Amino acid sequence: MKLTVFGEILWDITEDEKNIGGAPFNFAAHAARQGADVCLITAVGNDESGDEALRECERMNLPTDCIARVDRPTGSCRVQLQDGTPAYDLSGDMAYDHIPLPECFKSMRVPSKREPSAFYFGTLAQRSSDSRETLKELLKRRELFDEVFLDINIRQDYYSDELIDETIRAATILKISRDEIHVLNIPGEPQAICRQLSRKYKNLKMIIVTLDSDGAFVYEKGGRITRSEKPDCEVVSTVGAGDAFSAAFLVNYMNRLSVRECLKRAAALASRVCGKVEAVPTYLMDDVRKWKAVYRLLDHVETETFDCGTLCGSACCMCRDAEKEMGIYLFPGEHLLLRESEKEQNWLTWERQDPAEIDFPESWEGPVYFVNCQTPPKCPRKWRPLQCRTFPLKPVIGESGVLEMIWDDDELPYTCPIIEKNMPIHDSFYKATYTVWTHLLKDPRILDLVLSWS
Ligand code: SF4
Ligand code: SF4
Repeated sequence: MKLTVFGEILWDITEDEKNIGGAPFNFAAHAARQGADVCLITAVGNDESGDEALRECERMNLPTDCIARVDRPTGSCRVQLQDGTPAYDLSGDMAYDHIPLPECFKSMRVPSKREPSAFYFGTLAQRSSDSRETLKELLKRRELFDEVFLDINIRQDYYSDELIDETIRAATILKISRDEIHVLNIPGEPQAICRQLSRKYKNLKMIIVTLDSDGAFVYEKGGRITRSEKPDCEVVSTVGAGDAFSAAFLVNYMNRLSVRECLKRAAALASRVCGKVEAVPTYLMDDVRKWKAVYRLLDHVETETFDCGTLCGSACCMCRDAEKEMGIYLFPGEHLLLRESEKEQNWLTWERQDPAEIDFPESWEGPVYFVNCQTPPKCPRKWRPLQCRTFPLKPVIGESGVLEMIWDDDELPYTCPIIEKNMPIHDSFYKATYTVWTHLLKDPRILDLVLSWS
């Protein structure tokens, strides 16, 4: 699924630190984590903050090809937290006020067949005529997108009645918070306002209203209302929570989940972000560099002194085609590295599964990726997935809470002679595998999975 995200990237500056942010940036980072192929269209300055912002994008696995460098300072914003709720003080004439139309969009044609695609935008970057013109150009290419998601995100007084009207007219999904609803100049309760908006703006398929500690609801064209549970979390900071909510909702909606399920997942992710200081909290393994380090640790170790595939005709590689299994599942973030491998060589087939449908932990918000190698048992060795590298050992957390490595006791469609004959394995293989798992278990999602085995 492709998500094109338009708008500001800026540094949120609090009393003692600065963090990368801007609602479109936060949205893009959360959406990329959930498996979306994100194109972020924005601008940074030709300054140090701009260099740092691009580095942050790379760290979050966001492509930078549609991020322009312009002759204005990189966006920044003073944020003051009052009881965890942010108040923003935005400076004028920043790089994101001058976002140009990316070259690739100038000549882009609508492909005859394309993957599901959505466009995301807000209002702040529209405060300047340059960025607003670029947005209009992008929206002229409306047929490139199945959905247009407007997260209205009102900041200070950077809006007008005309801008709000034009902006909602372009959207198919509107997200607005209870605190922002006054900008619509429609009296009444949120639900009654949604009814009126839906009558006035024929393009709108749904309106999402977030209600802070009361949760959120979705009003669909035709009048159906779906409510979320009230969030149950200790609020540290709400910075980025709304953007996380939008990302989880849209990604799951584009993956054709029901509105109820999208709302549930969006609220769950927003709650988790509220419990952290950062707008895009670090999930340990969502970083290509970390996966490279893990792969490196296992690059030079083997189970035996000889190729154990000679014992069994490489049974663990060969069974997959024969059994027509889904393939090898990847751990959170591992897909980012294997996608890189495919730039060198196309060697995998991919499938995505919903974690809930295959009994993976709820904390695996994004899809679970399964891969099958196309020419087993031959594969580019340096890219072999983690599971191939650590088999036949499997981690469990023992009763005393200590990590242990055991023989893989899953029901397998083949026989592994090492397991069956309880063959001794290289100490170096055991140690490297153990070390890798101690790193991986710091990621709460991977810990949840291993706990479910233990
Ligand atoms: S099934 Fe066991 S012995 Fe055979 S190749 Fe795989 S790990 Fe080696
Ligand atoms: S990636 Fe390599 S090691 Fe893993 S199953 Fe495929 S051929 Fe075997």
